[in-house]
Amino acid sequence: MSATRYAPVLLALLVLLGACATPRPSTDTAPALRTNENLNSVLWTQTSAEYAATAIQAYQGATVMLDRALADSTWTAALEQLEQGDYHDLPPAVILDVDETVLDNSIYQARLVQHGAEFSRGSWQAWVREEKATPVPGALAFTQYADERGVAVFYVTNRRHEVEPATRNNLTAYDFPLPADEDRILTRAEQPDWTGDKGTRRTAVAGTHRIVLMLGDNLGDFLSEVEVSVAERAEMTQQYAEYWGTRWFVLPNPQYGSWDGALIDYEYGVSRTEKLQRKYDHLDTEGDRQTHDDQ
Ligand SMILES: [Mg+2]
Repeated sequence: MSATRYAPVLLALLVLLGACATPRPSTDTAPALRTNENLNSVLWTQTSAEYAATAIQAYQGATVMLDRALADSTWTAALEQLEQGDYHDLPPAVILDVDETVLDNSIYQARLVQHGAEFSRGSWQAWVREEKATPVPGALAFTQYADERGVAVFYVTNRRHEVEPATRNNLTAYDFPLPADEDRILTRAEQPDWTGDKGTRRTAVAGTHRIVLMLGDNLGDFLSEVEVSVAERAEMTQQYAEYWGTRWFVLPNPQYGSWDGALIDYEYGVSRTEKLQRKYDHLDTEGDRQTHDDQ
């Protein structure tokens, strides 16, 4: 048999080999990128200059107002104190929330996004015990300034009592003011009536101190009974319009909070799909949402 007889077969083989060697767009490379409800929120907190600027803005404003509040003995930031009355001669205090107000837990949130996981008390407590939360920009300078001015700094947090030692360690590692001989970290359920609603803890502080400023990332850091509808929360916010930026300072938290709970009727146990559906139902695509200025 002559070689020419096999020429077409050899040619076909060469073409086939060449085709195999030619790079082609792969259809099975990286896994598809996962979407996540909190991706943008966590990244905004962790990377944006705007997040840091907003936090610093809140704390700078609080620093300016602290001097004004100290000079005016009729000044109080707590509605609970107004109800009690007779506070003018009490020593001054400020109340700060902890999570996303003085400590940044976005690493925990980033892990949830990375693993497609949802918040659980177990994973949260484990994170808190790592004591790796970092200060929110501006928080340290403000609390230290307040401390220097003789103002008691109270941390009113919905962290549980069992993680108070870890919380204390995390705060003191960054030199947040905390006296060794007095409990200034008031945790949830530390006392029988200290529920998730912080009103009873504000009342407790109001009994011994004039509460001049309050800072938090959640409506509940300022007001009681905030687990109501989106519209009712907007109404409460307007009702106390003169407090924002004078007695009350809000830190941004797009990652979680009662604002998020309001969207799902505070039914945290429903499925993720149901949560997403309820959130989509809250999107305003027609302009029929009551705007904040309409309140
Ligand atoms: Mg908080």
